[in-house]
Amino acid sequence: MSGLRNAHVGDPPSHGGMGPAVGSRWLLARDEFPSLLDALRRAGYRIVGPTVRDGAIVYGSIRSVADLPEGWTDRQSAGAYRLERRPDRALFGYNVGPHSWKKYLFPPREHLFTLRRTDAAKFEVSVPEDPDPPMAYLGVRACEIAALNIQDRVFVGGAAVDPGYARRKARRLVVAVQCGQAGGTCFCVSMGTGPAVRDGFDLSLTELLDEGRHEFLVEIGTADGARVLDGVPLRPAEPSDVRAGEARVADAARAMGRAMDTEGIHDLLLGNLESPVWDDVGRRCLACTNCTLACPTCFCHSTEEVPDLSAERDERWRRWDSCFNLAFSELHTGSVRSTTPARYRQWLTHKLATWFDQFGSSGCVGCGRCITWCPVGIDLTAEVRAIRAAAPRPGPGAGGTA
Ligand code: SF4
Ligand code: SF4
Repeated sequence: MSGLRNAHVGDPPSHGGMGPAVGSRWLLARDEFPSLLDALRRAGYRIVGPTVRDGAIVYGSIRSVADLPEGWTDRQSAGAYRLERRPDRALFGYNVGPHSWKKYLFPPREHLFTLRRTDAAKFEVSVPEDPDPPMAYLGVRACEIAALNIQDRVFVGGAAVDPGYARRKARRLVVAVQCGQAGGTCFCVSMGTGPAVRDGFDLSLTELLDEGRHEFLVEIGTADGARVLDGVPLRPAEPSDVRAGEARVADAARAMGRAMDTEGIHDLLLGNLESPVWDDVGRRCLACTNCTLACPTCFCHSTEEVPDLSAERDERWRRWDSCFNLAFSELHTGSVRSTTPARYRQWLTHKLATWFDQFGSSGCVGCGRCITWCPVGIDLTAEVRAIRAAAPRPGPGAGGTA
């Protein structure tokens, strides 16, 4: 099912400050795309989005359309990623790369506070000046919106609210882009997270590239999104434009590179903690942590104390960490997960099983990053299949009453 419903042909965008109505759909010509960037900047946002760097499409500052990966696409498979030229000039004709939006909401390294000694037994606490401008995330895919929702639940959805994350979340504007193609490691259809963008966006774009046409179908998701569009030269979308957008998303859904059977996955994994598959995958895994760093939902971190030599001043920093690191499971008697198979099992069972118990959803959105960026090509969809295949079959009478 597509996120493009109920074609709405509305009044032309207002120039009175409010912008077009929430839920309405419009067309933006490719040549007018710079006006959207100008409007975002006028509204006070720093724009971050896809850009080509070091042979990959990564997220960085967008100053003009020239920073976007125009005419580039990516080819992805287990342990492999490469950029290629497209036959057209699509601005968003690629799938997700090694970066995710978590680097803006949950920075890889963050100064939390400083302690200063004021006398022998007293310290003064100061927090760093707020360094976070409002940001517009340009090019957020459906699976990435699902990942933002998951991290929101982790950082601000419970009793303990992370103040830095909350501040950055309040200042983000999500400009989604619907996928018109799927990558070789994508499986968002299996996880129910894409490829259609359904909610969680301020603006949603679908790039229409058929038969010489190059336009964007723009859907307004929120009043903030509508306000940004004030003055952008849009024209009303016709039902045929909405159908063209739906067709692109349907193409992406049909082209998923991977699939995962999630039926009963919580009990499957937790009921097979001694499966021989854990040892097999653990022998191949390098415990390099790539999968957790590339994953848009992984949130393991460590805190570090950085005192000065006089012991008068101390800084506390937070940095990304990984359950694949031996030291991450260190308790007073040593590591509780001393082998790589144990650490892989911890990662996969948390992601696909105990995440439900902790946060009420899967921890995986099917983006495929952990498959593409694993140096030895470990594929969680294949590992789940292997665990299912190796699971003991229920015997006669199993499932009956005790
Ligand atoms: S576990 Fe892998 S496929 Fe799932 S969200 Fe994380 S990186 Fe993406
Ligand atoms: S599964 Fe792959 S990416 Fe993850 S820690 Fe092991 S070798 Fe590294």
